[in-house]
Amino acid sequence: MRTSEIAKRYLDYFEKHDHLVVPSASLISPNPTTLFTIAGMVPFIPYLMGEQTAPYPRMASNQKCVRTLDIDEVGKTTRHGTFFQMIGNFSFGDYFKEEAIHYAWELLTLPVEQGGYGLAPEKLWMTTFTDDEEARAMWRNEGVDPEHIQIMGMEDNFWTTGGPGPGGPCSEIYVDRGPEYGVEGGPIADENRYIEIWDLVFENYEVDNVKSKTDLHIVGELENKNIDTGAGLERLAYLLQGKQNIYETDEVYPVIEAAERLSGHKYGKDADADVRFRVVADHVRSALMIMSDGVRPSNVGRGYVLRRLLRRVVRSMRMLGVTDPVLPSLFPVSKAAMEASYPELNDTFHDVTEAAYGEEDTFLRTLENGTTILDVAVRKAKEAGEETVSGKDAFTLHDTYGFPIELTLEMAAEQGVKVDEAKFRELMAEQKGRARADALKKRHNVDLSVYDDFKKTLAKPIDFLGYTDFSARGT
Ligand code: ATP
Repeated sequence: MRTSEIAKRYLDYFEKHDHLVVPSASLISPNPTTLFTIAGMVPFIPYLMGEQTAPYPRMASNQKCVRTLDIDEVGKTTRHGTFFQMIGNFSFGDYFKEEAIHYAWELLTLPVEQGGYGLAPEKLWMTTFTDDEEARAMWRNEGVDPEHIQIMGMEDNFWTTGGPGPGGPCSEIYVDRGPEYGVEGGPIADENRYIEIWDLVFENYEVDNVKSKTDLHIVGELENKNIDTGAGLERLAYLLQGKQNIYETDEVYPVIEAAERLSGHKYGKDADADVRFRVVADHVRSALMIMSDGVRPSNVGRGYVLRRLLRRVVRSMRMLGVTDPVLPSLFPVSKAAMEASYPELNDTFHDVTEAAYGEEDTFLRTLENGTTILDVAVRKAKEAGEETVSGKDAFTLHDTYGFPIELTLEMAAEQGVKVDEAKFRELMAEQKGRARADALKKRHNVDLSVYDDFKKTLAKPIDFLGYTDFSARGT
């Protein structure tokens, strides 16, 4: 079942159950506290918070998401992408826990011929919040094996916005991949064997004092209770397509194949190379989707996240032995894999690639200038029996060769050494201090005589002509 088909089934199912299906919002988060849209609920926050009335009390969407928090997991776990799609159904003061649980169970277990995903009930596991006996009873009513319903505490199974407002228990749904993937005992025992696919949040409380999850204060029950659910489309896809991870699904894998062709290496032969292939495929897609929503590489905010994703692609390909530009080969492949779901990629592709390929050229020049210097610094450190590249070398790389410190840190780590970051920061601060002193000195040496005439003019009284002389109004 293709990824786009899995999304379609989800939206069709909830449309049939009277949900208004809306298109994905932009990846540029409408919420000023996050750079990117990180979950399906983000565009619905005003409805969930009761600040606006939803256009319809039941809604569903397939939302594009970017989570940079998960970047270190990419390629190493089977289930974390920087870009992914979250399908979700929402109720704003309409249906609540019982229906949300019923819908999820029915859609997951409904046979494929009847529009469902056909997952075997014995493969499904649930976690529920400590106090939420109600949810456990509802899962049992649906026919879930009581042994497959586990209990988790505040940290994992209670949702809040992080501030005063709505909150409530969650129930997460997991798929058991089988004994060959880890130990028995449900998601509590092994989250790599049991893969979390869907999180149901039952927002029924008003909370405040949310300093930490363990000492929040429940003010009372909300008048309008909400349902907010999110399922990982790529996670469902990898399980339903019988693949090993999200990077091998139909919308991502073609980029791995393109990277194989470019590098001459085969995916699936070497564990380290495989991580690189997966990072490349994930980051190319994330960069494409982020850029298509209007972000361009820069040194701040979203642009900086994008710059780092693009650079990681280039560097991962270098580690696979490719030193020529790679994005002109990889971007079109990713676009081809995604355009069935996002036809608008065709409208933005020309501008996106112009910016992306330009960024790669600039970065390749930076790498050309600095890589040998870094290699020498690493060798020097190793020969001296040290584990650390000196702060002075890191500073020279930054100052003379335009190597950002993050790049030095990452490239040094790849060669098994650290960087004296404290010394680097000290030298940077010294340099800033020197620059400031120079600027001050220049200001004091400047010829200020030009201001003397100006001051003399101001010393004379000026007649205000605004009301009588229109030419003096500057209109
Ligand atoms: P995990 O603990 O596995 O990282 P999570 O608890 O952070 O997941 P939620 O915030 O509950 O996940 O998101 C809802 C669903 O979105 C998850 O059940 C999962 O299927 C999917 N999801 C979350 N993060 C990612 C990601 N980085 N890549 C792919 N899918 C994701």
